[in-house]
Amino acid sequence: MKRFTLALTFFVAVYPATALKDSRAQGAPPIQSTAGSQKLDEEYTKLIKDYLQDSRISTELVDHMPSSDTVPSPLKFFGRIPGTPGELTYSKDINRYYTALAQASPRAKLWKIGTSEEGRDQVLLAIADENTIKDLDRYKGMLAQLTDPRKITQEQAQALIHTAKPIYWITSGIHSPETGGPEMLIELAYRLMIEETPFIQEIRNNVIVLITPVVETDGREKQVDSYYYAKKTGKQRPPLMYWGKYVAHDNNRDGMGQALKLTQNITREVLDWHPTVLHDLHEAQSYLYTSTGTGPYNNSLDPIAINEWWLLAETELMEMAKRRVPGVFTYGFYDGWVPNYLFWIAITHNAFGRFYEVQSYGPDIVPDLHLPATITSKEWYRANPPLTNIKWGPRNNTNIQESALLFALHKVAEDRDLYLEDYWMKNKRAIEKGRSGAPYAWLIPAGQRRRADAADMINDLRAQGLEVQVAGSSFKAGTTEVAAGDYIVRADQPYRTLADMYFSVQNYPVANPRPYDDTGWTMQYMRNVKLTPVNDSSVLDQPMTLLGSDVRTPGRIEGTGDTLIVEHTTDNALMAFRFRNARVKMLAAEDDFELKGHKFRAGTFIIPSANTTALRSSIEELGLSAWAATASPPVKTHELEMPRIGFVHSWQNTQDEGWVRVALDHYGVPYKYFADQKLREGNLRAKYDVIIYPHVSGTSQSLLRGIPKVGPDPIPYKKSSLTPNLGALDESDDIRGGMGAEGLAELAKFVQAGGTLITEGSTSAFVADYGLVGGVTVEHPGQLFARGSILRGQFVDLKSPIAYGYDQKDIPIYFNQDPVFNIPEGNAGRSGASGVGSGAASAVGQNVTPNSVPIHISPYDQPAEPAPPPFDEVDYTRQMRLLFGAVKPEAPPRIVMQLPKDPNDMLLSGTLSGGQAISERPLVLDASVGKGHVVMFALRPFWRWQTQGTYFLGFNAILNWNHLDSGKPENKTAAVAGAAAN
Ligand SMILES: [Zn+2]
Repeated sequence: MKRFTLALTFFVAVYPATALKDSRAQGAPPIQSTAGSQKLDEEYTKLIKDYLQDSRISTELVDHMPSSDTVPSPLKFFGRIPGTPGELTYSKDINRYYTALAQASPRAKLWKIGTSEEGRDQVLLAIADENTIKDLDRYKGMLAQLTDPRKITQEQAQALIHTAKPIYWITSGIHSPETGGPEMLIELAYRLMIEETPFIQEIRNNVIVLITPVVETDGREKQVDSYYYAKKTGKQRPPLMYWGKYVAHDNNRDGMGQALKLTQNITREVLDWHPTVLHDLHEAQSYLYTSTGTGPYNNSLDPIAINEWWLLAETELMEMAKRRVPGVFTYGFYDGWVPNYLFWIAITHNAFGRFYEVQSYGPDIVPDLHLPATITSKEWYRANPPLTNIKWGPRNNTNIQESALLFALHKVAEDRDLYLEDYWMKNKRAIEKGRSGAPYAWLIPAGQRRRADAADMINDLRAQGLEVQVAGSSFKAGTTEVAAGDYIVRADQPYRTLADMYFSVQNYPVANPRPYDDTGWTMQYMRNVKLTPVNDSSVLDQPMTLLGSDVRTPGRIEGTGDTLIVEHTTDNALMAFRFRNARVKMLAAEDDFELKGHKFRAGTFIIPSANTTALRSSIEELGLSAWAATASPPVKTHELEMPRIGFVHSWQNTQDEGWVRVALDHYGVPYKYFADQKLREGNLRAKYDVIIYPHVSGTSQSLLRGIPKVGPDPIPYKKSSLTPNLGALDESDDIRGGMGAEGLAELAKFVQAGGTLITEGSTSAFVADYGLVGGVTVEHPGQLFARGSILRGQFVDLKSPIAYGYDQKDIPIYFNQDPVFNIPEGNAGRSGASGVGSGAASAVGQNVTPNSVPIHISPYDQPAEPAPPPFDEVDYTRQMRLLFGAVKPEAPPRIVMQLPKDPNDMLLSGTLSGGQAISERPLVLDASVGKGHVVMFALRPFWRWQTQGTYFLGFNAILNWNHLDSGKPENKTAAVAGAAAN
């Protein structure tokens, strides 16, 4: 009460009466406290009020702006305030403003944390009181000490907990269409630096606030470009085709894979600064969701981490409820399962990761934002629900998230010891967990077959801060045999949390709420690398040395002679080897063979008369295994002719194909990148040997149609004076209209003339649905539940070039619900064989039409994809007729890989129910069409830079593009299918 009275006195003295009246009328608590003499920036304050569309979306923390004589306000710098309708700010201009802030005040410091793929800066602004900023390195050092309880005593830790300051790192703008976070952070930075209320001072004195206003700097500039293009021309706004160079909203699914520079940059800073909290800002809920999650929670989470989510979220809910701000809620949105989001980079490192989802900034005003009853009902987790109708605008967005964030910052300032102690305890308990129970370590054998990929995995883990050791001598720990030189991840280290999350096997309970994203991710499965938990504690006492730098697995060449035989281990470096030495003639063995007592798998590279220094050093550098011999081994071979590769994207969505480009680019595979529209130009076979057409989210018909040609104006996507940031990867004067029937017919001609078309996911369904590949139907079994899981893929035909190098009967593969192939002819005996399976097949039979809509996991906080326009039957018939002339049904495709027969044998990690519907269903098909091939993947070989273990299924198809029939039984597919059924 005392504080209440005092505050009120100052309030009346400093703030205009109108502000007080408004605040009282709302029944909001008075301002927490204000400094006596700070002048108000009257113009700024007036604009806040003018732009706010509904007075309920405000608090005393953000309804005014004090003035500063030394630090430029956003209004002074930009000529407008955050929340101004119809305006967005480029990332480069936000960076300019932050530079000005840091120059103007000793309370801030700015530095670059890295650049994007397209070369734009990612920055970080630190804000605290003057003395803290001066002493930033000392505070940084304290948090580093709390990170490693192995090196400090309990007493030292307690002392640090009372002297260190938590770092609260706010990130935003990772999702480019969610525009408000970066705008709000323009203002928050200024307010935190210049406001002299005790509330703000308390934050400044007790917390080090770090701000990265735009994480996806490439996407932000494109977003702002496309907004102003529409605003200035009055024409239709081009969709935000590309965000970063590779992916769109999946940039927030890269926490484990770490393919993208933005993820790598944030991770590096997390490891350097050990932020106590990492808070990522998004926009996809009404009006403000603060993260806790519905569960199921990730099994490896320390209970402290889960309780921190609730503790801080409840503060925000309470403070906003006191002020009667509607629509602030928690729980009912996200689950808390998969550790692949940006904010999980903090969680895997024992810090506190969280996020907001706010009602969209716009920046245009929404005169009547209407919400359905499902969103406005009063629930235990939504005590003050959003309203059925409200006038919304960008300032509402700024106010609501800035207020909640200030309450969170203030709470962490108040309870700084608590959050620091939590952090230290989570680190300490991670170590203790590794000492007190299995697994005590994880073993990665150095001598494993895929040793180059194993080395890559170790280096990727080291880049995420995990300590990896090398065994000094061979030993046995329980039943685990360790060889000298093997790699050991000790479980008694702080980042055991990360190791445990990545290496454990997931069992997502089917009864739980809908998973938000992938349910299985076990790293060694996806990478097909041998890694075993060590369940005997004696491992911790064995001699081992901490790796001080990245592992380099040197290649080895045994023997002498002119001919080089490079083993095909499915190490992805082999792909780099082929393309680095593109001019060298190489052959592929078509069978397994033995040489000098070593067994080689089919697919082994044989390079006659070419034992050159260049090749040898290439093998050495890439960590490959080769043998030199005086003659080629007596095995049938074919030449690995370098293909000219075309890579097709759709103008509807470039999200998923980006992950395929990541893999090709990484291993140096060149390709010509072009839009599906261009397929219509034809003459494809003259230009390409291989065409890769990766998954595009949507239905077969929407793939064919592309963006509908509605309206009179073309929709250009290109670099121009109005849109200087568009067109980095591809351009078009009009992105409407997909490949159409003409493009599809050209694709068919390409294959018939001897080209190889590679498809995955929806594009595999597409070629089946439209009859480009005969004899395959696509099902969408309603009872199947396989959301982003790791399943067992069984090789049916190890002689197929697509299976080259694999020496296992089965490998873990990533599968996500769709597509489910059926080969009615080849499968007939099979479906009948498993009683439930045949029932399943007939039940789904009704769904088998090109019109059926596949089930998708709704992409993280993206609105559901709009339904495609009604399909024009006449158009369809015309298209099919066009195709019918071009494509004749051939023999059933060759099944290279399929799912197991027994549903209980399918799931390796994640979730699965209704597995009967996919019993023995093909995962990889190779269809002969005319002189060419269509290689169809139902699995997703290149998923999010996580599935390195299946990359070579795709790479083999590329390398052996014109010899895919090798090893094909005379009796063709019927025989293969028959054999599999037995
Ligand atoms: Zn988002």
